[in-house]
Amino acid sequence: MLTGKTALVTGSTAGIGLGIARALASQGAQIMLNGFGERGEIERACSEIEKIYNVRVMHHPANLMHANEIYEMIEWTGAQLGPIEILVNNAGIQFTSPIDEFPRDKWDAILATNLSAAFHAIHDTLPFMQRNGWGRIINIASVHGLVASVNKAAYVAAKHGLVGLTKVVALETAGMGITCNAICPGWVRTALVEKQIEARALQSGLDLETAAAQLLLEKQPSRQFVSAEQIAQLALFLCSDAASQITGSAIPMDGGWTAQ
Ligand code: NAD
Repeated sequence: MLTGKTALVTGSTAGIGLGIARALASQGAQIMLNGFGERGEIERACSEIEKIYNVRVMHHPANLMHANEIYEMIEWTGAQLGPIEILVNNAGIQFTSPIDEFPRDKWDAILATNLSAAFHAIHDTLPFMQRNGWGRIINIASVHGLVASVNKAAYVAAKHGLVGLTKVVALETAGMGITCNAICPGWVRTALVEKQIEARALQSGLDLETAAAQLLLEKQPSRQFVSAEQIAQLALFLCSDAASQITGSAIPMDGGWTAQ
């Protein structure tokens, strides 16, 4: 149980992050959501989770591309809900293109959101965790933190960087009651992947479901999508006492993708 603990989940207005936020709330944690979206929808998500699990849920709109906004979000979370004990660096964006045509601004945006934001959030949160003698940092990396695919230079570089950062933080916090791990999902059918399915469908004249099946067939031996709920259960386990000796690891949940 995580009763009374404060969790910040970045990029949690949708997809995997929202799934993780719900799971943490289900165990009694107070939640700071973060991410973009329509105001009314975000408010509905906050009050729905609050009502179901009887915990406090708030939202901070920090744009993670800016270190100062991350700092403000962490300070505000501390003031509203108490020091952050569980930090889930989840927000991420994607853009695909061959490297010689890869737009420089897309490279900068992906590195800022998928890698530097995690550094800034850990940098600003760790002192609280060290003072408390307990903390859980979970970085949502990707199979692309372990292996590469074509046309994903920025994403693969950022996710490999995130796995590296995870290891350094684990070493620097070892023995302090703090763990830092990366979860490396394969295909999960969220907005981030739906765009890639749509692009494939458009390019090859396939319907969406056939394009999705093709995407799976290419990389994910199980031929099934991982669900946000499954990833959330792994995150919960990493927060438990049973996982106190798992640190610095990069755990795939990928239907066999990286076994090949
Ligand atoms: P998603 O697009 O459904 O959700 C992304 C979330 O991040 C949203 O809440 C969005 O508002 C937020 N976000 C994006 N840019 C932001 C910014 N600058 N500041 C604040 N919030 C921002 O994506 P998802 O599929 O749920 O992805 C979540 C994480 O999981 C990402 O890091 C992604 O790389 C990783 N991942 C996804 C898959 C997959 O197949 N979907 C696979 C492996 C890893």
